[in-house]
Amino acid sequence: MMKNTIHTRSFLVAAALAFSSWTTCAGSIAIETGEGNVAALLEREANDFTDALGKAVIDFTPSPPLSKTFALLRSKVQGATVARIEYSYEKAGKTVTRVYHGRSGHSLKTIFDRASKKSASSASGNESSATDSGDAIGIIEADDIAMDAAEAKYYPIETGLDLRARKLPESTSRLEASVVDSMDHSWDAELKTLRRIEDDIEKKIVPKGGRVTGYVSKTVCESCREVIDTFARLFDAEGTIYQLIEPGTGSVAGDGATAIQRSRAVSSNFLAMRKAYAKAILNPSHHAVMREQRRSALGDLDRIEQEALAVDEPEHDPCVP
Ligand SMILES: [Zn+2]
Repeated sequence: MMKNTIHTRSFLVAAALAFSSWTTCAGSIAIETGEGNVAALLEREANDFTDALGKAVIDFTPSPPLSKTFALLRSKVQGATVARIEYSYEKAGKTVTRVYHGRSGHSLKTIFDRASKKSASSASGNESSATDSGDAIGIIEADDIAMDAAEAKYYPIETGLDLRARKLPESTSRLEASVVDSMDHSWDAELKTLRRIEDDIEKKIVPKGGRVTGYVSKTVCESCREVIDTFARLFDAEGTIYQLIEPGTGSVAGDGATAIQRSRAVSSNFLAMRKAYAKAILNPSHHAVMREQRRSALGDLDRIEQEALAVDEPEHDPCVP
């Protein structure tokens, strides 16, 4: 009888582990199919990234970039995964929620340098090095992390409840990316965002045992699924992450009857919105307008400084020779 009970219990434990993403027990985060509200919640992440790159490009180059460079930059911003992960916990009898905003990929400077290099090599007819040579350029992780941290000024200002998931080093994290189908997932949005929460837990800014509610613009990959499970286990976190399912190549649109069909339709509309926004921000004429605005703002600043200096100058006293 005892043996049977142990067997039954082992079976239940095994079943619970096998279907852990479906259960709501502590230390498990489920991944579910997201629909319309996910795109609405992720719009800010997508637009903030595009705006940040638009502003940074003015600083990165003294002369306007080629339109081919802009096309490459647009493909980077509209194709990146964006994530919004809310982490809630109890403090003094109240629920506190910190929202972490993340996106996949490298620092703005690295994205820009790669696009410029690729566009220059294709403009000079050197097609051999133009075939996505950018991705073959080795990146020193520490340098890119430092650049990403310094680029905070291009994103919305962080508050105690609204934070950017800048990239944090692998060496200080227990969340590890894996290589899936020879793709390195070290720069995935979900990993970067959970690492930022991990860092806050380790620094005791937030407690472990919190509740995660996340939204991701693409289907969560195998590497990130493992990261999410590890995070839930290590920090006793529970909750749900909603993913948009990409339409994929050759997939049938369907009649919208199932959650996956609806998610695919939302994903496709979201991508169209991102493309339109990227086109409006990252193009030569908008860039020229922004550059001019920056110049006149700096001119105004100079004038204000000159006027302030003039006011500070002591007036000449006619009685003093
Ligand atoms: Zn991933």
